[in-house]
Amino acid sequence: MNELGFTKDTTPYLVFKCNKCKQYSYVKVTQKTKKCLRCGHSHQVKLIVNSGMIVNGMTAAVNRVKELQNQLGDPQFRTESEFIMAPRIREQSSQLHKKSRMIYNDGAENYLEAFNVLLRDLSHRYSSFPLYLIEAMASDYKIPLSVLKDLIFRGITNKILIKDNNNHYSVRSND
Ligand SMILES: [Zn+2]
Repeated sequence: MNELGFTKDTTPYLVFKCNKCKQYSYVKVTQKTKKCLRCGHSHQVKLIVNSGMIVNGMTAAVNRVKELQNQLGDPQFRTESEFIMAPRIREQSSQLHKKSRMIYNDGAENYLEAFNVLLRDLSHRYSSFPLYLIEAMASDYKIPLSVLKDLIFRGITNKILIKDNNNHYSVRSND
């Protein structure tokens, strides 16, 4: 059974629940600290390493986070969350399903500037990042998921954004 997708990537990642906002994130176990993607709370990896689950490879980590976040969207899990962010995440995932039939949306240019700011902020925090991270941050920058794929496509075409063999993205630096 190959559940991991990319079997080559066996780097251990910790999937954990943010102790402030109760949302799930992942971090390479060798990393010292990790800022929660959703609330910015900083975690010391050695203090949370026993509270989460270790999975191998970033793809598996991202998928596990998605699964757990989907469970948070289930009403019976919602009471666990101090700040009820689950409905927003559920809305995002339903938009994701719709996204596939509206790839090219001429509204995308209205969001170019916001998208560039998102990429700049993301590249300050991570040298490379999976699509999931771009999607997770899009709503904070008021970018609808319906135009995100188009924006990413333009970014790659204009060589602002680089996609590597592991399907991770990085931002070309200006200097
Ligand atoms: Zn958090």
